[in-house]
Amino acid sequence: MSTALPQSTDIIVVGGGNAAFCAALAAAEQGVSVLVLERAPEDEAGGNSRFTAGAFRCVYDGVEDLRKLMPDLTDEEVAKSDFGTYTEEKFFDDMGRVTEYRTDPDLCEILITRSKATMLWLRDKGVRFMPIWGRQAYKIGGKFKFWGGLTVEAVGGGPGLVDALTKIARKNNITVAYSARAVSLIADDEGVKGVRVKHDGKTVEIKCKGVVLAAGGFQANTEMRTRYLGPGWELAKIRGTRFNTGDGISMALAIGAMPTGNWSGGHAVAWDRNAPEFGDLTVGDNFQKHSYPWGIMINANGERFLDEGSDFRNYTYAKNGRIILMQPKQFCYQVFDNKIIPMLRDEYRIKRVTKIRANTLEELCAKMEDVNAEKALATIKEYNKAVMTEVPFDPNVKDGRGTRGLAIPKSNWANTVDEPPFEAYAVTCGLTFTFGGLKIDTSARVLDTEGVVIPGLYATGELVGGIFYFNYPGGTGLMNGAVFGKIAGTTAGQRAKQAP
Ligand SMILES: Cc1cc2nc3c(=O)[nH]c(=O)nc-3n(C[C@H](O)[C@H](O)[C@H](O)COP(=O)(O)OP(=O)(O)OC[C@H]3O[C@@H](n4cnc5c(N)ncnc54)[C@H](O)[C@@H]3O)c2cc1C
Repeated sequence: MSTALPQSTDIIVVGGGNAAFCAALAAAEQGVSVLVLERAPEDEAGGNSRFTAGAFRCVYDGVEDLRKLMPDLTDEEVAKSDFGTYTEEKFFDDMGRVTEYRTDPDLCEILITRSKATMLWLRDKGVRFMPIWGRQAYKIGGKFKFWGGLTVEAVGGGPGLVDALTKIARKNNITVAYSARAVSLIADDEGVKGVRVKHDGKTVEIKCKGVVLAAGGFQANTEMRTRYLGPGWELAKIRGTRFNTGDGISMALAIGAMPTGNWSGGHAVAWDRNAPEFGDLTVGDNFQKHSYPWGIMINANGERFLDEGSDFRNYTYAKNGRIILMQPKQFCYQVFDNKIIPMLRDEYRIKRVTKIRANTLEELCAKMEDVNAEKALATIKEYNKAVMTEVPFDPNVKDGRGTRGLAIPKSNWANTVDEPPFEAYAVTCGLTFTFGGLKIDTSARVLDTEGVVIPGLYATGELVGGIFYFNYPGGTGLMNGAVFGKIAGTTAGQRAKQAP
């Protein structure tokens, strides 16, 4: 049965993902009434957050910080793991490097310096976390060594996270309405005073003292992504929810909000060539194919086109989708041999995978659909000759095992492709979320095109611009939505309490 909408409430949160629930919980802490509007029906609710693995990039200065966050960690688990540290300095370095130092310094500082406290706040609310033993650590000398600054995930991944947040919200008397699409903001010179909502086919107005926009980016809107990301982007697949069509951004721009950030940029990865147009919750993020640093990628011309081992996967995967989209026919094959096949991530072993297998390189290249087989074979042979086989392969560090003399080098983890059987996986571009969005201040208040705060309007999550440019360090999306969601909810709640 659908939830009846109130005629008024203190705070309306637009969106039903991680950022929205963090904002709703923080607003509720201020003792105000909170309504969450989720456009999706309940069985598809939770936005991109539900499609994630639930990985959060957060600062920790050692195992003691992790024990606080994950009190269930046993001594035995700690003994078998080398967690290292992920300090504020490392997080700053990562954000600076991958965004080419374009990230808004004030927002980036808040994201990083509040990450630890926000995770503890989520834990106190009842969200449970665990180490990402499966995907972010390799076992070396009997110990799991974590790499790439990404160590913690929500129990149950994205679905577990959304489930937990929804339950906690209900426990805190927050009303959650599904199939409730915010269509516009009600605003005048004094600021935002309500939201027009299409709910179960009817448009109604709900009055409020503040609105937090957390409705995601515009990636699922073919027209907007082609307009802003550029020609060819209508051909990309969408990794997550079909409901993030830029509504939150559009309704804020319509009342004079300032656009900011990397409007032509987005987070885009290697994604199964035959995946559906939008994400499929039964597959989640398993259409991604993230073991490319250990192999090579070959396009329709039979050529390599990027350095597959330029950095750890966490720091390259989010920009590679764009490069794959720009290849002829918008795809490529990831090629591996028997040495690497056992190391491939679990997502390579799902049923819905576009894969070929062969016992010789000639047979493999002939089987690669839409690829110049002769050239592909020559490329693999030339690559094999160029590998620095004298340098040992080590997946835990940037091992410097590169190539010599190739026009497109491979800098690390260069393994020869010469031991049968061989496998090749066809991938295209999967767009995760867009980077351009609304300008906020450090209190998550939305600014107008004059740079002045729009009273009563707040934003968090994917639809905020200025934080990510070009690329993205894995696990930062959830952290970003949580940090600014908490701030947005707190600021909105405090203002609502003081309003008449
Ligand atoms: C396959 C996949 C895997 C990922 N893995 C990770 C990961 O492990 N770690 C990580 O940090 N990030 C990951 N990401 C990125 C991450 O999903 C996002 O950065 C993050 O979830 C964004 O949160 P959000 O709350 O801003 O948006 P969302 O979770 O997308 O929520 C937006 C919400 O707004 C709703 N909405 C849209 N329009 C309206 C409207 N008009 N009215 C009402 N509601 C509306 C949508 O239905 C949705 O519920 C992944 C993304 C995908 C697609």
